[in-house]
Amino acid sequence: MARRKIQLKNDRQIKKLRAAGKLVADTFAMIEPHIQPGVTTGELDELIEDFIRSHGAEPSFKGYNGFTGSTCVAVNDVVVHGIPGDLALQAGDIIGVDIGARLDGWHGDATITFPVGEIDAESQRLMDVCLASLDAGIETAQVGTRLSDISAVIQQIVEEAGFNVVRNLFAHGVGRNLHEAPSFPHYGESGRGPELKEGMVFTIEPMIVAGSEDVDLLDDGWTIVTVDGARSAQFEHTIAITKDGPLVLTAP
Ligand code: MG
Repeated sequence: MARRKIQLKNDRQIKKLRAAGKLVADTFAMIEPHIQPGVTTGELDELIEDFIRSHGAEPSFKGYNGFTGSTCVAVNDVVVHGIPGDLALQAGDIIGVDIGARLDGWHGDATITFPVGEIDAESQRLMDVCLASLDAGIETAQVGTRLSDISAVIQQIVEEAGFNVVRNLFAHGVGRNLHEAPSFPHYGESGRGPELKEGMVFTIEPMIVAGSEDVDLLDDGWTIVTVDGARSAQFEHTIAITKDGPLVLTAP
Protein backbone atom coordinates (compact mmCIF):
# COMPACT_ATOMS: atom_id res chain seq x y z
CA MET A 1 0.00 0.00 0.00
CA ALA A 2 2.65 2.51 1.02
CA ARG A 3 5.95 2.07 -0.73
CA ARG A 4 7.55 5.13 0.76
CA LYS A 5 8.37 5.17 4.45
CA ILE A 6 5.82 6.77 6.74
CA GLN A 7 7.50 9.55 8.72
CA LEU A 8 6.39 9.67 12.34
CA LYS A 9 5.93 13.14 13.82
CA ASN A 10 6.98 14.10 17.34
CA ASP A 11 4.92 16.25 19.71
CA ARG A 12 6.59 19.47 18.62
CA GLN A 13 5.88 18.71 14.97
CA ILE A 14 2.29 17.76 15.74
CA LYS A 15 1.83 21.13 17.46
CA LYS A 16 2.94 22.82 14.22
CA LEU A 17 0.61 20.62 12.18
CA ARG A 18 -2.21 21.51 14.57
CA ALA A 19 -1.53 25.22 14.10
CA ALA A 20 -1.77 24.79 10.31
CA GLY A 21 -4.89 22.67 10.72
CA LYS A 22 -6.50 25.23 13.01
CA LEU A 23 -5.92 27.91 10.39
CA VAL A 24 -7.71 25.70 7.84
CA ALA A 25 -10.64 25.34 10.29
CA ASP A 26 -10.71 29.10 10.85
CA THR A 27 -10.74 29.61 7.07
CA PHE A 28 -13.84 27.42 6.80
CA ALA A 29 -15.55 29.45 9.54
CA MET A 30 -14.71 32.61 7.60
CA ILE A 31 -15.97 31.32 4.23
CA GLU A 32 -19.18 29.55 5.28
CA PRO A 33 -21.42 32.66 5.39
CA HIS A 34 -20.20 33.61 1.89
CA ILE A 35 -21.48 30.36 0.34
CA GLN A 36 -24.72 31.73 -1.06
CA PRO A 37 -26.54 31.72 -4.41
CA GLY A 38 -24.84 34.13 -6.82
CA VAL A 39 -21.31 34.01 -5.45
CA THR A 40 -18.72 32.68 -7.89
CA THR A 41 -16.20 30.01 -7.03
CA GLY A 42 -13.48 32.50 -8.00
CA GLU A 43 -14.76 35.00 -5.44
CA LEU A 44 -14.72 32.33 -2.74
CA ASP A 45 -11.19 31.39 -3.75
CA GLU A 46 -9.98 34.97 -3.44
CA LEU A 47 -11.48 35.36 0.05
CA ILE A 48 -9.83 32.09 1.11
CA GLU A 49 -6.43 33.03 -0.29
CA ASP A 50 -6.51 36.48 1.33
CA PHE A 51 -7.51 35.01 4.70
CA ILE A 52 -4.75 32.39 4.65
CA ARG A 53 -2.08 34.90 3.61
CA SER A 54 -3.26 37.45 6.19
CA HIS A 55 -2.46 34.80 8.82
CA GLY A 56 1.14 34.42 7.65
CA ALA A 57 0.54 31.20 5.71
CA GLU A 58 0.30 30.11 2.08
CA PRO A 59 -2.48 28.25 0.31
CA SER A 60 -1.04 24.73 -0.17
CA PHE A 61 -2.68 24.11 -3.54
CA LYS A 62 -1.73 27.37 -5.30
CA GLY A 63 0.81 26.46 -7.98
CA TYR A 64 0.77 22.79 -6.99
CA ASN A 65 1.66 21.03 -10.25
CA GLY A 66 0.47 24.23 -11.93
CA PHE A 67 -2.93 24.47 -10.21
CA THR A 68 -4.13 28.08 -10.59
CA GLY A 69 -6.51 28.30 -7.61
CA SER A 70 -5.89 28.42 -3.88
CA THR A 71 -8.87 26.18 -3.26
CA CYS A 72 -10.22 23.10 -5.01
CA VAL A 73 -13.96 23.40 -5.57
CA ALA A 74 -16.40 20.62 -6.44
CA VAL A 75 -19.93 21.65 -7.42
CA ASN A 76 -22.61 18.94 -7.74
CA ASP A 77 -21.24 16.22 -10.10
CA VAL A 78 -17.66 17.42 -9.68
CA VAL A 79 -15.91 14.95 -7.39
CA VAL A 80 -12.72 16.90 -6.67
CA HIS A 81 -10.11 19.32 -8.04
CA GLY A 82 -12.43 21.82 -9.76
CA ILE A 83 -10.65 25.08 -10.62
CA PRO A 84 -12.22 28.21 -9.10
CA GLY A 85 -13.55 30.62 -11.72
CA ASP A 86 -16.65 32.34 -13.09
CA LEU A 87 -19.17 29.67 -12.11
CA ALA A 88 -21.88 31.27 -9.94
CA LEU A 89 -23.49 29.07 -7.31
CA GLN A 90 -27.23 28.44 -7.48
CA ALA A 91 -29.69 27.53 -4.76
CA GLY A 92 -29.86 23.75 -4.56
CA ASP A 93 -26.19 23.20 -5.45
CA ILE A 94 -23.75 21.44 -3.18
CA ILE A 95 -20.13 22.56 -3.20
CA GLY A 96 -17.11 20.77 -1.82
CA VAL A 97 -14.45 23.24 -0.68
CA ASP A 98 -10.99 21.73 -0.22
CA ILE A 99 -8.62 24.02 1.68
CA GLY A 100 -4.93 23.51 2.35
CA ALA A 101 -2.68 25.91 4.25
CA ARG A 102 1.06 25.80 4.86
CA LEU A 103 2.03 27.54 8.07
CA ASP A 104 5.61 27.66 9.33
CA GLY A 105 6.52 24.86 6.90
CA TRP A 106 3.71 22.45 7.85
CA HIS A 107 0.47 21.68 6.00
CA GLY A 108 -3.14 21.30 7.05
CA ASP A 109 -5.71 19.88 4.61
CA ALA A 110 -9.48 19.55 4.97
CA THR A 111 -12.67 19.53 2.91
CA ILE A 112 -16.27 20.39 3.73
CA THR A 113 -19.22 20.02 1.36
CA PHE A 114 -21.68 22.86 1.88
CA PRO A 115 -25.30 23.23 0.78
CA VAL A 116 -26.13 26.33 -1.26
CA GLY A 117 -29.48 27.63 -0.03
CA GLU A 118 -32.16 24.93 0.16
CA ILE A 119 -31.06 21.55 -1.19
CA ASP A 120 -33.02 18.39 -1.95
CA ALA A 121 -33.30 15.62 0.63
CA GLU A 122 -31.15 13.14 -1.30
CA SER A 123 -28.26 15.61 -1.58
CA GLN A 124 -28.52 16.23 2.16
CA ARG A 125 -28.47 12.48 2.80
CA LEU A 126 -25.40 12.10 0.55
CA MET A 127 -23.60 14.74 2.60
CA ASP A 128 -24.74 13.26 5.93
CA VAL A 129 -23.58 9.75 4.99
CA CYS A 130 -20.22 11.07 3.77
CA LEU A 131 -19.63 12.92 7.04
CA ALA A 132 -20.71 9.87 9.06
CA SER A 133 -18.26 7.71 7.11
CA LEU A 134 -15.44 10.18 7.81
CA ASP A 135 -16.30 10.22 11.52
CA ALA A 136 -16.30 6.40 11.62
CA GLY A 137 -12.98 6.34 9.79
CA ILE A 138 -11.47 8.76 12.32
CA GLU A 139 -12.86 6.72 15.24
CA THR A 140 -11.19 3.61 13.76
CA ALA A 141 -7.77 5.31 13.58
CA GLN A 142 -6.35 3.97 16.84
CA VAL A 143 -2.83 2.76 17.63
CA GLY A 144 -2.59 -0.89 16.64
CA THR A 145 -5.37 -0.98 14.07
CA ARG A 146 -4.42 -1.46 10.43
CA LEU A 147 -4.67 1.26 7.83
CA SER A 148 -7.22 -0.60 5.71
CA ASP A 149 -9.53 -0.93 8.72
CA ILE A 150 -10.31 2.74 8.06
CA SER A 151 -10.97 2.05 4.38
CA ALA A 152 -13.28 -0.86 5.18
CA VAL A 153 -15.46 0.94 7.71
CA ILE A 154 -15.96 3.85 5.30
CA GLN A 155 -16.97 1.57 2.44
CA GLN A 156 -19.38 -0.33 4.66
CA ILE A 157 -21.22 2.79 5.86
CA VAL A 158 -21.41 4.31 2.39
CA GLU A 159 -22.63 1.18 0.64
CA GLU A 160 -25.16 0.32 3.36
CA ALA A 161 -26.69 3.73 2.66
CA GLY A 162 -26.96 2.90 -1.05
CA PHE A 163 -24.13 5.15 -2.21
CA ASN A 164 -20.71 4.35 -3.69
CA VAL A 165 -17.11 5.23 -2.82
CA VAL A 166 -14.98 6.79 -5.57
CA ARG A 167 -12.16 4.37 -6.29
CA ASN A 168 -9.06 6.03 -7.64
CA LEU A 169 -8.58 9.07 -5.40
CA PHE A 170 -6.68 8.37 -2.20
CA ALA A 171 -6.06 9.72 1.28
CA HIS A 172 -2.48 10.73 2.05
CA GLY A 173 0.09 11.48 4.70
CA VAL A 174 0.62 15.15 5.59
CA GLY A 175 3.67 16.89 7.01
CA ARG A 176 6.20 19.25 5.53
CA ASN A 177 4.85 17.89 2.25
CA LEU A 178 1.22 18.18 1.25
CA HIS A 179 1.27 14.57 0.07
CA GLU A 180 3.39 11.98 1.88
CA ALA A 181 3.14 8.29 2.65
CA PRO A 182 0.86 6.56 3.41
CA SER A 183 -1.50 6.66 0.45
CA PHE A 184 -4.67 4.64 0.85
CA PRO A 185 -8.17 4.24 -0.62
CA HIS A 186 -11.54 4.66 1.09
CA TYR A 187 -12.67 1.13 0.29
CA GLY A 188 -11.25 -2.37 0.64
CA GLU A 189 -10.88 -5.25 3.04
CA SER A 190 -9.92 -4.65 6.65
CA GLY A 191 -6.74 -6.00 8.28
CA ARG A 192 -4.26 -4.86 5.64
CA GLY A 193 -1.59 -2.23 5.26
CA PRO A 194 0.64 -0.84 7.98
CA GLU A 195 -0.29 -0.93 11.64
CA LEU A 196 -1.10 2.53 12.95
CA LYS A 197 1.57 4.03 15.18
CA GLU A 198 1.76 7.08 17.38
CA GLY A 199 2.97 10.05 15.33
CA MET A 200 1.43 9.08 12.00
CA VAL A 201 -0.34 12.02 10.38
CA PHE A 202 -2.63 11.60 7.40
CA THR A 203 -5.90 12.69 5.83
CA ILE A 204 -9.10 10.73 5.67
CA GLU A 205 -11.19 12.13 2.81
CA PRO A 206 -14.00 9.93 1.50
CA MET A 207 -15.47 10.98 -1.85
CA ILE A 208 -18.85 9.38 -2.27
CA VAL A 209 -21.37 9.39 -5.11
CA ALA A 210 -25.09 8.88 -5.55
CA GLY A 211 -24.52 6.90 -8.78
CA SER A 212 -21.66 5.03 -10.43
CA GLU A 213 -18.26 5.28 -8.75
CA ASP A 214 -16.64 5.77 -12.17
CA VAL A 215 -15.16 9.19 -12.85
CA ASP A 216 -13.83 11.19 -15.80
CA LEU A 217 -11.14 13.86 -16.06
CA LEU A 218 -12.24 17.02 -17.89
CA ASP A 219 -10.12 18.64 -20.63
CA ASP A 220 -8.77 21.23 -18.17
CA GLY A 221 -6.60 18.42 -16.81
CA TRP A 222 -7.85 18.85 -13.23
CA THR A 223 -11.60 18.61 -12.77
CA ILE A 224 -12.81 15.12 -11.92
CA VAL A 225 -16.52 14.47 -12.51
CA THR A 226 -18.86 11.51 -12.15
CA VAL A 227 -19.40 9.74 -15.50
CA ASP A 228 -23.18 9.69 -15.08
CA GLY A 229 -23.69 13.24 -13.77
CA ALA A 230 -24.72 12.00 -10.32
CA ARG A 231 -23.79 14.20 -7.37
CA SER A 232 -20.70 13.69 -5.26
CA ALA A 233 -19.86 14.76 -1.71
CA GLN A 234 -16.58 14.84 0.19
CA PHE A 235 -15.47 15.54 3.73
CA GLU A 236 -11.83 15.50 4.83
CA HIS A 237 -9.81 16.00 7.98
CA THR A 238 -6.09 15.72 8.70
CA ILE A 239 -5.56 13.58 11.80
CA ALA A 240 -2.66 12.51 14.02
CA ILE A 241 -2.47 9.10 15.65
CA THR A 242 -1.78 9.49 19.38
CA LYS A 243 -1.77 7.05 22.26
CA ASP A 244 -4.95 8.73 23.48
CA GLY A 245 -6.71 8.20 20.15
CA PRO A 246 -7.02 10.14 16.90
CA LEU A 247 -6.39 13.89 17.15
CA VAL A 248 -8.25 15.88 14.50
CA LEU A 249 -5.71 18.51 13.48
CA THR A 250 -8.15 20.42 11.25
CA ALA A 251 -10.93 20.61 13.85
CA PRO A 252 -12.22 24.07 14.85
MG1 MG B 1 -6.19 15.86 0.79
